[in-house]
Order: sequence, then structure tokens, then C-alpha cells
Amino acid sequence: MRILALADRIVRRLESPRARDIFGAVDLVLAAGDLPYPYLSYLSDVFGSTCLFVAGNHDDPLIYDSEGAPIQGPVGWVYAHERLVEVDDFLVIGFSGSIAYNPGKPYHYSQTDMWFRVLQAAPHLWLRERQRQRRLDCLLTHAPSAGIGDGPDYAHQGFQAFRWLVERFRPRYHVHGHVHLYGNATPAWQTYNATQVVNAYGCQIIDTDP
Ligand SMILES: [Zn+2]
Repeated sequence: MRILALADRIVRRLESPRARDIFGAVDLVLAAGDLPYPYLSYLSDVFGSTCLFVAGNHDDPLIYDSEGAPIQGPVGWVYAHERLVEVDDFLVIGFSGSIAYNPGKPYHYSQTDMWFRVLQAAPHLWLRERQRQRRLDCLLTHAPSAGIGDGPDYAHQGFQAFRWLVERFRPRYHVHGHVHLYGNATPAWQTYNATQVVNAYGCQIIDTDP
């Protein structure tokens, strides 16, 4: 499966009408937050693939009408926050938000808040893994895991609950954003146990193993 992963920064080449020619066909688009909703709506249209997203700490609240169509939110995207979503046998679970450095704002959570959300989802994930006899394919989050690609400052610290999930469920991929990459100082890809951790700042192409 060929995946286009996005976060945090608009990529000019993706805004081009030739984006599909430049990047090629993708089976799945994953957005890890802090991207304008019109940009995401446009990319859903251009690539015509299944698109899953979580929200970042700078995103506006999502508002849907009674039919489930977004009034404020990306068109053509499935919101994966606290949900298990399966696309062609590729299982994704998502969590929006970052550490609450600005409490009261949408998508700002404390470590305890996130523990609560992850532990609530864990039994469903465990059951789904048993049913399909395969581990989780992708954890999709805005913030990173604590100590794995997070930042030294408070606002960019990762969630302990994500690290527990990565250690316990060993997803093949953890796609996140929130930590901006400048130059080559911080790698976009790193391996942690059995997981490829991908910081999708801008964009990354992920070619999954068969
Ligand atoms: Zn962020």
C-alpha cells in the first residue's frame, strides 16, 4: 500500500494541479493535524483516495450538519480520533491533539486526559487484533509519543499514553506531526522496537510491506 502522510506545513507541490502526476497514485492519505481544512479538502479531490485525519492543537473545532457533512472541517475526510478505521485490511487508530500548554483551547489535553482516551480505546483495539490475527498497522496522532521524536519544551512533549500503546500494541507505523522539522537535525523517520515512527511534517510517502 502506498500512503501519503501529511502534517503541519502546506507543501506547495501538493497544491499544484499536477500533484497527482508528481506524487503518483496513493491508496491512502493520512493527515496528522494542523493543516487548513480547504487544503485537505483539495487533496481529497486531487488524489481521490481514502483520507483519514486527526486534528492538531491549532485546528478549528469540527462542525458537521445533521447529515454528517462538514460545515467546518475537511470535505472527503474521515475523522479517526478515538476510532478504529480499516482501509483494505490496513488498521488505523487515531488521536487528535497535543499537550495542553494552552488549557481550554480545543484539542489541548493533559497527560491524564490522553491516558483516559487511550485506555478507553485499548480493549476495542485488543479485540480487533484478536479477530484479524494481525497487529495494528498504524497509530495516527498529532502529538508524538513521550521520548520518541518529541521536543525538549513543554508544548512539544509527547504523550506517555502513546508510548505505552506503541510498546504494548507494536503498530507497524506511528505517524504523527506537531514537532516541526528544520534542516536535517531531526530525522523524519526512526525505528522504535517494531514500529516505524514517521514525523509527517510537510509530507512523507510510506510504502508499506506486503
Ligand atoms: Zn501542533
